[in-house]
Amino acid sequence: MIGIIGGSGVYRAEMLEDCKKEEIATPYGRVSLTVGSFDGKKIAFIARHGEKHSVPPHMVNYRAHIKAFEILGVERVIATAAVGSLRDDYVPGNIVVPDQFIDFTKKREYTFYDREAVHISMADPFCDEMRAISFKVLKDFEHKEKGTYVCIEGPRFSTRAESRMFKSFGDIIGMTLVPECQLARELGMCYLCLAMVTDYDVYGEKPVSNVDVKRVMAENIERIQRVIEQMLKELPEGRSCRCSRALEEAR
Ligand SMILES: [Zn+2]
Repeated sequence: MIGIIGGSGVYRAEMLEDCKKEEIATPYGRVSLTVGSFDGKKIAFIARHGEKHSVPPHMVNYRAHIKAFEILGVERVIATAAVGSLRDDYVPGNIVVPDQFIDFTKKREYTFYDREAVHISMADPFCDEMRAISFKVLKDFEHKEKGTYVCIEGPRFSTRAESRMFKSFGDIIGMTLVPECQLARELGMCYLCLAMVTDYDVYGEKPVSNVDVKRVMAENIERIQRVIEQMLKELPEGRSCRCSRALEEAR
């Protein structure tokens, strides 16, 4: 099964057939999700912020989401995100496939292993195989194949001084990648982030506002859905990456 996590603006997986809503009980809480199929593959879809976007980034129950995927047998996760750009050449409408992140979050539930010393490697946080497939799919779209995603706690946007600092080592900025990405790895899942640039954070002429983010996401929603659809078609049956072996040397 393949898991899709829809970020801001992506509240449904439009390509899914035979959809049904399910509620999955996990040790971290219940999760509402949609299960369906596409191109002969089974898909589970979670709206990260809820279908009506009522859950802010710092309150998302990341552990419950990833655990619910595991219970359903999800092995690979495609996640979307609305992000700010920290570079002039990463322009609104670009889809970035981040290859690194820097974590500036503060108070989230970061691990499934609170009673056991498990240290997974996050040197390369994203699935290589899925990234390579995404480049093939994205050749018809304005995109960037690399990017360091600075993840901040939110829910507020950055100050100008913070943005200046983040600009010196990051390419894009958002509020949700961590700990979602590392929780997936802790359970041996592949994880790919498709990040849609919606704004120039606060260093541009006009500081980012939530209205801008929503507008650019709405304008680009169809493209993101098409990319996800193509990704689902291109994903091979089996995995040939190292993600499933993440725990081998972690204990
Ligand atoms: Zn993988």
